[in-house]
Amino acid sequence: MERRLFLRCLGCGATATLLAQTELLPRALGGVQNACAFDYTKKLSSVEAWYYVKREGGGIECRLCPRRCVVTDLERGYCGVRETRGDIYYTLVYGLPCSLNIDPIEKKPLYHFYPGTTAFSLATAGCNANCKFCQNWEISQTRPEQTDNIDLPPQTIVDICNHRKVPSIAYTYSEPIIFFEYMYDTAKLGHEKGIRSVMITGGYIEKEPLKDLLQHLDAVKVDLKAIREQYYKDIVNAELKPVLDALVEIKRTGVWLEIVYLVVPTLNDSEEEFVELARWIKTNLGTDTPVHFSKFYPQYLLKNLPPTPTGTLEMARNICRAEGLEYVYLGNVPGHPAESTYCPKCNEVVIARRGYTILQVNLNNCRCSNCNNEIPGLF
Ligand code: SF4
Repeated sequence: MERRLFLRCLGCGATATLLAQTELLPRALGGVQNACAFDYTKKLSSVEAWYYVKREGGGIECRLCPRRCVVTDLERGYCGVRETRGDIYYTLVYGLPCSLNIDPIEKKPLYHFYPGTTAFSLATAGCNANCKFCQNWEISQTRPEQTDNIDLPPQTIVDICNHRKVPSIAYTYSEPIIFFEYMYDTAKLGHEKGIRSVMITGGYIEKEPLKDLLQHLDAVKVDLKAIREQYYKDIVNAELKPVLDALVEIKRTGVWLEIVYLVVPTLNDSEEEFVELARWIKTNLGTDTPVHFSKFYPQYLLKNLPPTPTGTLEMARNICRAEGLEYVYLGNVPGHPAESTYCPKCNEVVIARRGYTILQVNLNNCRCSNCNNEIPGLF
């Protein structure tokens, strides 16, 4: 079936058609779609946005993320997907993802969250930051008029998950905070129908929307990009403090949390930073919070730097373990022993992995099969 025909099919609700479509999903939509030229005739949503205040004298102030954009009539916020018309603020991407796939949960990465299961993964155009190393800049740094969007309301996502027996939905690839209303409604509906939701995020969000959203999430993976404000200013174009606050709030609510730290050569890879990072996590989140050190590859605006040496990732891991963190992984290094989960008490492998594949699980009711030590997470 051609992609065009597949997309037309997605609009109809009959169960038989839905089953036929969902069989074709991974083939028809193979992941992140490239941005294309501006198309001003493209259908965008006009659903009123949440978390904004009207300003005296016109315009609005968006209170969704700490950027707090002030947006006048017919202008958009920094993320490019929220627009003022008159004195109403709208989200333009509700129900209009540009990227879909069914991924292993290990790809997010979430290592302590139902290992070996899959997640229906989606993203819209847009982002509230601009990381110089962004892997998905073709969708994160574009407008929804530039991406190939699909009409996919929350109900259809949940129906697809139920028919395909996909247990989780992942809001991922770009920055799901900027399609908050769509994510919230999908996660809420998913919970009503027995489908879990996970958010893969930079964590740059205001407190109130985060608290509201966490009621409908089962897990969050936060990309903590550095432990220094200067890096956030220079490389991410955002701020560290709100991200740290968000991490504490997620942990406080009990929603499952894992952290990824992309190690970028010369920019955030010093021993001192790894010590600071480990100590902050230990003090504020606890030693049982999984941390993934991920290998950087040159791309987007950081093509001048080399890939992260595996030795640097190992140093980061060793420092964190010496500081007491119990679950420290290496990412983007397929075949490395640090892809697997080890029991911190007896050091036996409790989940053996290679890349996104689970090779073996040695757990009994969330406990190490060897020494009965409890392993944190949802298994
Ligand atoms: S969500 Fe978008 S519009 Fe709102 S403050 Fe953040 S960047 Fe600005």
